Amino acid sequence: MSIRGDLQRLLDACGVRYFSANELLVHTGKPLNHEPHPSQLDNILPAVLVLDALRSHLRRPIRPASVFRSPAYNASVGGATRSQHLDFVAIDFSTRRLRGAYDLLLSWRREMKMFRSEAPFFPLGKDAAGPERKPLPMWEERGGDSQLFHWLGGLAIYPSKNFIHIDARGSNRTWRGA
Ligand SMILES: [Zn+2]
Repeated sequence: MSIRGDLQRLLDACGVRYFSANELLVHTGKPLNHEPHPSQLDNILPAVLVLDALRSHLRRPIRPASVFRSPAYNASVGGATRSQHLDFVAIDFSTRRLRGAYDLLLSWRREMKMFRSEAPFFPLGKDAAGPERKPLPMWEERGGDSQLFHWLGGLAIYPSKNFIHIDARGSNRTWRGA
């Protein structure tokens, strides 16, 4: 079993259309960077689902630029000490018309827009301890076999570096980078 194969199976189970495990396991920052731990794989699903919806809406390519960061790699790029990238919860990406994509994400989050996920699964909370697995706070059981997904997380634009950061930390935070 490889990390790549396991992640791809998760993406397929969630109906992710536009992103592959290969794209999300970005090979930046080697040799300091490495792949996420197998126990972290579920953490990226909420951000991927948001990005998949954004990609569908924009009808133009989105390129993940930085996803998982090891502590050493994160430190080398000046990342926050408790960066969401360390937990495989965040995605930095670029696309044409960065501002348009950012404004759309912002409005989705402002409206607490719900994305319906037909896949019967519960992502893990990144703070899940021991064998007790608990769902992320933005997932709610709403009856039947479908679940409604509230995106609660970080959203930032870095205009001079030409990328947008999103994460699914479970609470909302917005900031503007350099
Ligand atoms: Zn980021």
